[in-house]
Amino acid sequence: MDQRFAHLSNLAAIDAAHHIHPFSNMQKLNAEGTRIIERGEGVHIWDSTGKQYLDAFAGLWCVNVGYGRSSIAEAAYRQMQELPYYNCFFGTTTPPTTLLAQKIASRAGPKLNHVFFTNSGSEASDTWFRIARVYWKALGHETKTRIIARNNGYHGSTVAGASLGGMTWMHEQGNLPIDGIVHINQPYWYAEGGELSPEDFGLKVARELEEKIIELGEENVAAFVAEPIQGAGGVIIPPETYWPEIKRICAKYQILLVADEVICGFGRLGTWFGHQYYDFEPDLAPIAKGLSSGYLPIGGVLVADRVAEVLRDQVGDFYHGYTYSGHPAAAAAALENLRIIEEEGLVERVRDDIGPYFAEALSSLADHEAVGEVVSVGLMGAVQITADKASRRRYEKPDDIGTAVRNHCVSNGVIVRATGDRMLFSPPLIIARKEVDQAVDTLRNALDWLRDGQRQR
Ligand code: PMP
Repeated sequence: MDQRFAHLSNLAAIDAAHHIHPFSNMQKLNAEGTRIIERGEGVHIWDSTGKQYLDAFAGLWCVNVGYGRSSIAEAAYRQMQELPYYNCFFGTTTPPTTLLAQKIASRAGPKLNHVFFTNSGSEASDTWFRIARVYWKALGHETKTRIIARNNGYHGSTVAGASLGGMTWMHEQGNLPIDGIVHINQPYWYAEGGELSPEDFGLKVARELEEKIIELGEENVAAFVAEPIQGAGGVIIPPETYWPEIKRICAKYQILLVADEVICGFGRLGTWFGHQYYDFEPDLAPIAKGLSSGYLPIGGVLVADRVAEVLRDQVGDFYHGYTYSGHPAAAAAALENLRIIEEEGLVERVRDDIGPYFAEALSSLADHEAVGEVVSVGLMGAVQITADKASRRRYEKPDDIGTAVRNHCVSNGVIVRATGDRMLFSPPLIIARKEVDQAVDTLRNALDWLRDGQRQR
């Protein structure tokens, strides 16, 4: 056995002994053995056996500029040599931190000119949650504390993040949600739309926001939060009627609108931010992932002028922050990442070229017997599996079906994700047309395999 191989097989055993993985059943994982990913280049990654994969999921929705960008590594290296760390607490900042805030603001909606830095999307959820309450309190509205979120939304794994999220199976672990967070229905027409048209269903679930505000009392509601397109929930693309109605309701009532841009931000929808795609301007917007393309951990909250002004003029000290808020090396990496996105025109590429190509390639699966619907915006797409096309019937165990189809794709060299029985795509923004074809063909083969297996039953 060569030494390297011995070392790596040993690594799996060490991992089983010492490493608790996120969102994992450790008994099952340890029995199967973890996959060790060693290297990445462009849209490809390689595991420790040398097997190559097309990563059609960009890591975890985040490696927007693709793997192997040495200029990002060099930017972080230079910053670490110059000043590896300093905080932003006591009247200080570092050059990349401040320049990054300016750069992000220049790309967001015109009123979103301020950034509070975090290390992750989850911390960004906790951050805006506190800002929203602090904002209303400073304005004398002590009772405006409640937050309306959505079933099957995802906003992170911290206590506030998981509470804001609408994943009931997460709530069951840790007695969540915390007080003051309520959930309304999601705009998932395929599963929950019944006999309504998508347009009517979009209006119906959007109006639940208005009903909830009235039920709770406007004077008690601080904010409404939603992902422009739900990601982890299954790439749920709302019917066209949904966001205009939400926009109307948020303009009518005095509540803050929070757009969770952690996935949709930084080009994924062919716009810099998801709120631009849906033509609304939030008051607060958590960001992470594509901000640094995952090269180093960094997130933040975009804060609109009216909120930032209250924080500045009426709150005094805001007792919130992380040791690594605005970390200089992470900020330098993020700045270089955003420079690449701009220089290579990746946002425009998604909007005008590869996004439309991806939509067309993916929609070639729409008439497959096992497929209920195919949806995408930019480079974010989903294929819904069905047991019966006409009635939109789902398989009895949707998770098992989705996992089996995903595993089939992965063993054939393409990484996709399954949420229940929806197959999700979120490739790096640099993906080539032939790689899109490969990803779609691999899913088609897996769907054929599913269909043929089900027929034989
Ligand atoms: N919000 C959304 C919309 C997300 O998709 C995620 C992560 N998938 C988060 C928040 C949490 O981000 P993080 O995992 O960086 O804490």
